[in-house]
Amino acid sequence: MGLLSFGTPLAWKDTKKLADHIRSHGITQFLHTWDRVKDRCGDELFWGDEVEYMVASFDDDTRSVRLSLRQTEILAKLQAIVNDISCHCPDNVVVPLFHPEYGRFMLESTPGAPYSNKVTDLLMVEGNMRYRRSLAQKHLKKNEVPLTLTSYPRLGAPGQFTDPYFNPVDAVSSHSLFLPEEITNPHARFPTLTANIRSRRGSKVAINLPIFVDKNTPRPFIDPTIPWERNVYPEDPEAKNGAALCDHVYMDAMCFGMGCCCLQVTFQACSVTEARRIYDSFVPLAPIFLALTAASPLWRGYITDVDARWNVVSASVDDRTEEERGLKPLKNDRYRIPKSRYDSVSLYISDNWLNRPEYNDVEVPNDPEIYERLRDHGIDDILAKHVSHLFIRDPLVIFSELKDQDDENSMDHFENIQSTNWQTVRFKPPPIGSSIGWRVEFRPMEIQMTDFENAAFAIFFVLLTRAILSVNLNFYMPISKVDENMQRAQHRDALQTEKFYFRKDIFLPNSSRSSSVTNSGKTSPAGSDREHNGISNGSHQPKKTKRMGNCFLEVPPPPEEYITKVEDEYEEMTVAEVMNGKGHNNPGLITLVYEYVDTLDINDRQRSRLFEYLDFVRERSTGKFQTPATWIRNFVRSHPAYKFDSVVSEEINYDLLKEVDEIERGVKKAPELLPEYYTGRDEDQGSIGL
Ligand code: ADP
Ligand code: MG
Ligand code: MG
Ligand code: MG
Repeated sequence: MGLLSFGTPLAWKDTKKLADHIRSHGITQFLHTWDRVKDRCGDELFWGDEVEYMVASFDDDTRSVRLSLRQTEILAKLQAIVNDISCHCPDNVVVPLFHPEYGRFMLESTPGAPYSNKVTDLLMVEGNMRYRRSLAQKHLKKNEVPLTLTSYPRLGAPGQFTDPYFNPVDAVSSHSLFLPEEITNPHARFPTLTANIRSRRGSKVAINLPIFVDKNTPRPFIDPTIPWERNVYPEDPEAKNGAALCDHVYMDAMCFGMGCCCLQVTFQACSVTEARRIYDSFVPLAPIFLALTAASPLWRGYITDVDARWNVVSASVDDRTEEERGLKPLKNDRYRIPKSRYDSVSLYISDNWLNRPEYNDVEVPNDPEIYERLRDHGIDDILAKHVSHLFIRDPLVIFSELKDQDDENSMDHFENIQSTNWQTVRFKPPPIGSSIGWRVEFRPMEIQMTDFENAAFAIFFVLLTRAILSVNLNFYMPISKVDENMQRAQHRDALQTEKFYFRKDIFLPNSSRSSSVTNSGKTSPAGSDREHNGISNGSHQPKKTKRMGNCFLEVPPPPEEYITKVEDEYEEMTVAEVMNGKGHNNPGLITLVYEYVDTLDINDRQRSRLFEYLDFVRERSTGKFQTPATWIRNFVRSHPAYKFDSVVSEEINYDLLKEVDEIERGVKKAPELLPEYYTGRDEDQGSIGL
């Protein structure tokens, strides 16, 4: 989430009037940035993670748990602590950053500065995450715990779920039947986002997840807990007359989605070309990593038949009008828009030949005037399509004081649109006035309950990016198949039971694995930059590197004969096969990561520590370790108080969250979830010597 501005936020009708102004100046700002940075090249790898928490407040006397709404107070305290640490620490210590998030019960933390390309930085990630958690924990009340749970099981369920209690009747921004106004971060941006999404859409958001049908779940399931008597807003009859589906858990507010926690990782690329290539390679990986990290089966007090948050968040911010959703013919609106603002990427953006036009096979409406402006400015077709596609959306929040900007020195209006396009992957231009280069953010992963797991996925992913670039891996397949995979990834137990479309041959044509694998098992990129990347040319032992490279060579020119039919390029496989290999030309992502690690100059101790993370990801993929979603579902279903009716009672919720905390702290072992060497958080260990 970007910097929070201060000022007077405009209501929807005034925001709408300024939409073209924001878009037009946003594009001017982008073009100024483009002129400045389009040729920027040579940036090294920097990267960082974002971890989101929900603060739970336990009452052990009554055996109940609530979401603590003290975000403002907690962040002020953490900011003071962090400032204090920075004053008293040696220069080389970077203190973490804490950020606000949408829910008033949420926190986000990032490392204070990005990690560098040094291999040894990888081994700091878990310590840094644990330090951040300990720091937050230390400055919370004794009964509060920062949990890394993706969805809060009883958010919006009957009874009390916040501390302090607020009545949902006053939900003026969301008009929710379930969630009070006070659930949302009080900064004007958030209630305004909520209200303007609802106003733009013309109705409340509607989220329906299929209920998990257990032995005693009533059929048909018509949720008896929806408080229809709270009908005070005009949209409620709509909800009653069909928005709330039978056999589903119905939710009606932005916070059900944006109140979820996730794990994100951001990478700096060498150049815009490399960033575009990384972006594209992340797109088909998104559903795979969503399935691998799935962690959210419980919603509004029920077990549902899904394991992951994606569709909930997507529906929770779906501001499209009925015309845009295709429910009515276009009359007042300009486009039919197939997806919510929060959804899977619709367009690959690399300009190299690997990105065959056939892969971009879903409808991508774009703003024709903006497209022309970008083209006239010399931007290539596909990047112009990307930006003009993002810019079909209206701005949602405008502060009246900030509507006129110095377009040469501001990216605010560009960011207004860009940062409310919440897609699986984000392509980030360099910010003005900073040393930061072109970046790509990978956004689908669910947050894991322990920092060991969060670190494992972050580390695995950064190594995978290096493997992608150094070996020139090719994951392209039609975006429509990626979209299909996104749906499958959310199904219950997708990791074990679903198949996903994935490329059969992930190497470039003419670089068959046998011809490109060196004697130590590494696949070499062609060209003179090999030393830099730690991979040597051919026969003698490769020189190992202490730094993970950026700036890999261009993709080689296309072969003369490259005539595979797109539909022959992919097939369905399990996540275990994607990760561990299927067939000669797909050795599996993990194998490639292991091989990449072989090129790194690390000692045996570092190597074995690194392998703990990689082995964990492998064992998650093969089912040795359960996903958090499976573990949570099993916990509820085996709880003595569970009545096999899909209901997650307050008592079960309390015991579940207690257990999650105990597992995280290492007080309780969970061999089905974590390796036996997992020790849990040590309150002192995180201190500054990271
Ligand atoms: P947002 O919420 O907009 O995604 P944040 O500031 O919360 O952004 O997180 C950005 C992430 O990018 C952090 O993990 C940070 O460490 C990382 N980061 C910062 N600078 C760079 C950089 N130059 N290259 C790559 N990552 C960076
Ligand atoms: Mg965040
Ligand atoms: Mg952030
Ligand atoms: Mg982010």
